[in-house]
Amino acid sequence: MTGEKTTCGPAQLDKMLTEARRVTPWLAQGASVPQQQVIRDFAKSRAKAVKDIKARLPQRQRAGMPRWKKKRETDPSLNYTQRGFRLKDGRLHLAGGIVLTVVWSRELPTPPSTVRVYRDSIGHWYASFVVATTTAHLPETGRVIGIDWGVRETATTTNSDHDLPHPQHGRTAAQKLAHYQRIMARRRPAKGRAASKGYREAKRKTAKLHKKVARQREDTARKWAKKVVRDHDRIAVEDFRPKFLAKSTMARKAADAAIGATKKALIEMGRKHGREVRLVHPAHTTMDCAQCGARTKHALPLSERTYACTACGAVSPRDKNSARVMLVRAGWCTAGAEGIRPPGSLDSVAA
Ligand SMILES: [Zn+2]
Repeated sequence: MTGEKTTCGPAQLDKMLTEARRVTPWLAQGASVPQQQVIRDFAKSRAKAVKDIKARLPQRQRAGMPRWKKKRETDPSLNYTQRGFRLKDGRLHLAGGIVLTVVWSRELPTPPSTVRVYRDSIGHWYASFVVATTTAHLPETGRVIGIDWGVRETATTTNSDHDLPHPQHGRTAAQKLAHYQRIMARRRPAKGRAASKGYREAKRKTAKLHKKVARQREDTARKWAKKVVRDHDRIAVEDFRPKFLAKSTMARKAADAAIGATKKALIEMGRKHGREVRLVHPAHTTMDCAQCGARTKHALPLSERTYACTACGAVSPRDKNSARVMLVRAGWCTAGAEGIRPPGSLDSVAA
């Protein structure tokens, strides 16, 4: 045993694979490119996981968060780089003589550099291509917008036409979900035993339901993001991080998921169309006055829907004030900004 530091770079992993293929006939029968990728992916994800665990373990334990999935529990995923795949007549040819008929969701704008073939939690297979992005610039509007995230309204903005009420996608699903979860609790297999048919069925249906809700959320988020990005050049938005609190309610979790999906869609849409999206640190955004910048001594309770500034006397709906704080923090709070009104004239917007 030496004190030498062990490193496992890609070259070393490839060398190990070559050796393994030489002595293991069944391994040599498969194509080497995806095998190489699987090993590299695994090494990468493992290194990242170890780093993450070290950095966040105490925090996760405190918060009662779920544990990480083990690699063997995850769904299969294969990555093919340029020399590992080719497209011909709309079909996907993979290394090792595999030919797949693909149902294309859209045309590829440029030739792809890599493809990932993977199976999701409900057993559907997908091929995901990496292509160089192109920015589709939209006409300038001369307008800016500030956006605050919340539970009742997923997004409250400085431009009321663009507020987004919480879409409640999870609400109808929640009942069904509770039903399946009861079945699973009742039929949970003993340790080391195979799960019953009823348990597996309930598990599959749960996964399907989750997927459906997620897809609805993404759809709503994308449509909203498109509208916001079309109508504004610069977007200041709260850099919301979901809290995953163990004791948080179903409603809170659903709101967090909606905010997460919406924020992601907004950032992607902004990038796609060459708009400036500024992420604003969320600290004190509900405590600061958007008119004069004064900070309240105590955080407003969630039940308090109105922000009343003791320094300048401005009164405004709490979320509207926060949305404006985003603009102020981004340095874009000009008189011409939508929704900016002098103090005292806010009664009309207070609903
Ligand atoms: Zn004030």
